[in-house]
Amino acid sequence: MKVLRFRIIFACILLYFLYVWVSMTGLGFVDILNLRHAGHLLGVLGTVFLFMQFVLSARIKKLEAGFGLDKMLNEHRFYGRIGLIMVMLHFILIATYQWTEHGRIFFNITILFGIMALLGITITAAIASTYNKFGIAYEVWKNIHLLNYIFFPLALVHVFLRAQPGTLLFYLWLVLAVGFLTLIVYRLYRIFQMRNNPFKVVEVIQEADDIWSLFFTGEKINYKPGQFMLIQLMRNGKRSSSHPFTISSSPTRERVSITPKELGDFTATIKDTKVGDLAFIDAPYGVFSFLNYETDELVFIAGGIGITPFMSMLRYIFDKQLKNKVTLFWANKNESNLCFRNELDEMQKEMDNLTVVLVMSGQEDWPGEQGRINGELLQKYLPDLENKDFFVCGPPPMSRAVRAELEKMKIPSHKIHYEVFEL
Ligand SMILES: Cc1cc2nc3c(=O)[nH]c(=O)nc-3n(C[C@H](O)[C@H](O)[C@H](O)COP(=O)(O)OP(=O)(O)OC[C@H]3O[C@@H](n4cnc5c(N)ncnc54)[C@H](O)[C@@H]3O)c2cc1C
Repeated sequence: MKVLRFRIIFACILLYFLYVWVSMTGLGFVDILNLRHAGHLLGVLGTVFLFMQFVLSARIKKLEAGFGLDKMLNEHRFYGRIGLIMVMLHFILIATYQWTEHGRIFFNITILFGIMALLGITITAAIASTYNKFGIAYEVWKNIHLLNYIFFPLALVHVFLRAQPGTLLFYLWLVLAVGFLTLIVYRLYRIFQMRNNPFKVVEVIQEADDIWSLFFTGEKINYKPGQFMLIQLMRNGKRSSSHPFTISSSPTRERVSITPKELGDFTATIKDTKVGDLAFIDAPYGVFSFLNYETDELVFIAGGIGITPFMSMLRYIFDKQLKNKVTLFWANKNESNLCFRNELDEMQKEMDNLTVVLVMSGQEDWPGEQGRINGELLQKYLPDLENKDFFVCGPPPMSRAVRAELEKMKIPSHKIHYEVFEL
């Protein structure tokens, strides 16, 4: 992803020089330190960056397959921030130029469109970066965020009204406008496709006190073990918001399943799901699968419900009778948090190549490992750290702590793979 980011920034720098060149006057090159020209340039680049954030959040399957949705959304935030800073500076520099050169700030319909776009995008960005501090529900901020699909076209109107038809800049805006429309059509088509092919809930199983598995049948999903889906449940005639869940089943099995743990308003209602309810599933997403790496020895490190991608991968390895050597470390507070326990016990009996290490952080009478997963514990079970790929999935603080331990153990970063249950 770093490479892609670099390439796009580089492309923008080239665009910068192109713009300076295009803006050449009969007197020679435009002074790029000139407030007016620098202001215009920042407006051009900022608009391109803002456009890029739509590309990165459109869940384009081909792009996502290379990087993973979480990383794409991180990039989306990066481009959004840079783009917004640039268009803010664009506004400030142009206004300062007009004030210093003409003694007043001009105002007309073109500028009005620009100001409306800037205000709208600034407000949605402010809400996006602060929503959890003010207790705004995820779904509410997501809907507010979608208003950018209205504010960005206002910015496009602003730039179109300013550009001279036939100039290079005019064609750049044309490309952006067509691209933006294509993204909207793509997203709408995906929604249409998903709604026309609903899945059906065929079983609901309680896995632990607050953990449930839902099984579905429907059109075949070509997923790799460890990938995730975005799902909306249709219950009592009401469609839920869309939530990400790892596909806990394996592609070797007929039914697709997810295993949500109660955490907030949506997951608390999972237990009310009935056989026959419909689900709209958008899948697969993510790159967290051992099949993406050529490796024989796998170390799986899970925290709590972070077991789901590993369960999918273990089921796959079990069903296909693969020979990969697997060591699973699974951290929980106490035994009552464990799901899939019988299935894991069965697998361990049948698979010589599987070692399961259960670690409890809050149960003194637990006969196995106690405390947290750290370097010492990992080395106790893995005397040799060579030629292994490490996969980590769990709550963000646990995931960060484990990855820091792995780095301390000098595991190369390309051997550490992780999924964070946070988009
Ligand atoms: C790739 C991935 C895989 C996941 N797999 C599993 C799994 O196998 N089992 C499991 O129990 N949980 C999983 N989760 C987490 C699950 O998506 C959240 O717990 C759930 O969406 C919380 O919704 P809520 O309304 O119950 O909780 P809330 O209290 O509303 O939200 C808690 C947090 O969950 C996140 N969240 C809430 N709503 C959404 C949404 N619509 N889209 C994205 N994030 C949201 C936000 O960070 C929020 O702060 C996964 C998350 C991701 C990103």
